[in-house]
Amino acid sequence: MLAGARVAAARERLTDLDAAIGDGDHGINLDRGFRELVRRLEAAPPGRDVPAAVLEEAGRALLGTVGGASGALYGRGLQRAGAALLAPGGGDPAPLDERSGEERAVSAFGAAVDAIAALGRATTGEKTMLDALVPAHAAFAAAVAKGATIGLAAERAAEAAEAGAEATFPLIATKGRASYLGERSIGHLDPGAVSSAILLRALADAAADG
Ligand code: ADP
Ligand code: MG
Repeated sequence: MLAGARVAAARERLTDLDAAIGDGDHGINLDRGFRELVRRLEAAPPGRDVPAAVLEEAGRALLGTVGGASGALYGRGLQRAGAALLAPGGGDPAPLDERSGEERAVSAFGAAVDAIAALGRATTGEKTMLDALVPAHAAFAAAVAKGATIGLAAERAAEAAEAGAEATFPLIATKGRASYLGERSIGHLDPGAVSSAILLRALADAAADG
């Protein structure tokens, strides 16, 4: 699974970013969680290879093993994305849903971002992962609305997440551990925004490969 390899490769970078404005565990936390996620998905019997079930299982793996704020946020986000695929109309059974796979992906992605914002009681501009995820979802939705494939929409999402993560540099953190630093959080990238961009880049590259 590409995301697991990318997280492992970024472990030191994410940990260094978190050491600057947090407690230096973000890369270690995510790497531990993604190792477990990959282990569980590889061990899962055939038939579990259904997007909603994979997202639910992935979310549960991250919730149980990542720890820290990001474990709860990413874990809950993935679980909500899985639930959105199963009940896209907010309870209507999936067979009644006439939207395309791309449109359903837009709402699943949106459900994940909304869940993260609600759980973190955060919005954009607060130097968190939402500064990558919110513009990424907007770019993904805009691309799908113009008829893009999942692969192209995921590429646009990754680009927007990377730009959003870079744009956290001058911000003051007002949520999470980095907020304890106040103005001293200025001049650093948010580790969660950077990890979100890495995860969405992995998704885009995996989607491009087919
Ligand atoms: P912890 O801060 O508990 O050590 P991590 O280091 O794993 O957790 O993750 C830190 C990242 O989590 C931050 O860089 C930020 O992107 C994200 N984060 C923290 N608190 C919030 C929040 N309330 N809302 C959204 N994202 C948050
Ligand atoms: Mg931390």
